[in-house]
Amino acid sequence: MSEQRPKVVFVVLDAFPFSGVDPNWTPCLFELAQEGGIAQKGGEAVLSASTYPNHASLITGAMPFEHGIFTSHSWLTEEPVPAKEAGPACRTLFDDCRDAQKRAIAIVGDQNLVGVCGARAAAAHWPNNGDLPESAPRGRLGYGADRGVVGAFDELDPMSADFTFVQLDEVDTERHLRGPWNDDVREQCRLTDSALGELLERFRSMWSEMVIIVVSDHDHEKVESGAVDLKSHVFKNNLNVQIDHDGTSALVVGLIDHSQLLDFPSVVGAQTVGPDRNLVWGDPGIQFGQDWNLAAQHGSPRTAKQLAVVGGGHPEARRLGNLIQASRPQCTEWAHWIRRLLVLDRHSFEP
Ligand SMILES: [Zn+2]
Repeated sequence: MSEQRPKVVFVVLDAFPFSGVDPNWTPCLFELAQEGGIAQKGGEAVLSASTYPNHASLITGAMPFEHGIFTSHSWLTEEPVPAKEAGPACRTLFDDCRDAQKRAIAIVGDQNLVGVCGARAAAAHWPNNGDLPESAPRGRLGYGADRGVVGAFDELDPMSADFTFVQLDEVDTERHLRGPWNDDVREQCRLTDSALGELLERFRSMWSEMVIIVVSDHDHEKVESGAVDLKSHVFKNNLNVQIDHDGTSALVVGLIDHSQLLDFPSVVGAQTVGPDRNLVWGDPGIQFGQDWNLAAQHGSPRTAKQLAVVGGGHPEARRLGNLIQASRPQCTEWAHWIRRLLVLDRHSFEP
């Protein structure tokens, strides 16, 4: 007997710590994990471990060198384009749903993610065109607050969607301002879990049809005051590369030797992330570019751990839950799993 295909809700809790799920503080996430599963050691982000490259990888299944978004910019050519303007340079789950005549919706707290994730291809999205309405509540770094997402959700008619994409931003803001982990961050995790619970309440009457996937995009680490300016270093040394500072990492664009990268001030690690694209980072506490007076930042491989929880009443929730408990899910794997759940992959046939 064939099983009915599930409806999928894919939620990104921005910067939610992978080890922050707790029966008392985050009961919604805890119950989801009981139903499906949780990756106890966390999932693995793509580098740079920051918001836009990871969202683009979550929604496409592609690596940054494929979708182009390495930092807050797309670097497909030697000309940087803001990630929200470029969008991912390969197919998204929204494109696939549209072509398969499945209804996809997207609602995001960080308004730039409408462009970064290509969400204009969804049947409905919020905030419209990535412009946060004047009346929408904002968090302290200017992005849409969790309660604004909860308040706008019903405008998108979530119960009729085959695929729902949600991003809640406020844990990221709290960690940037207060530090990677403390009582304030734990309280924000509680509040964001409760906002998640309100969103998922809409699907209770159809729970047996649902697979709910909840991830984060990156972790955080403490930073010291001051910042290392690699742009001035390459300028002074006449190096023919461009620098894109990204929190506790920096992207180096152009042909350069690995050994030269390790001669950059404060740089202790480097990894090739694409053709003539390298990511560098320093010791714990070192940030690059500008000191924004933040307590915590992300970008380096130390911040590349993602929350990974699956729940829902459909039998596929338990199967996917078992899979992630046994492995460390990669950021790029989720889109492929969702394509299979929604039968979006035209090249795969099920018996
Ligand atoms: Zn983020």
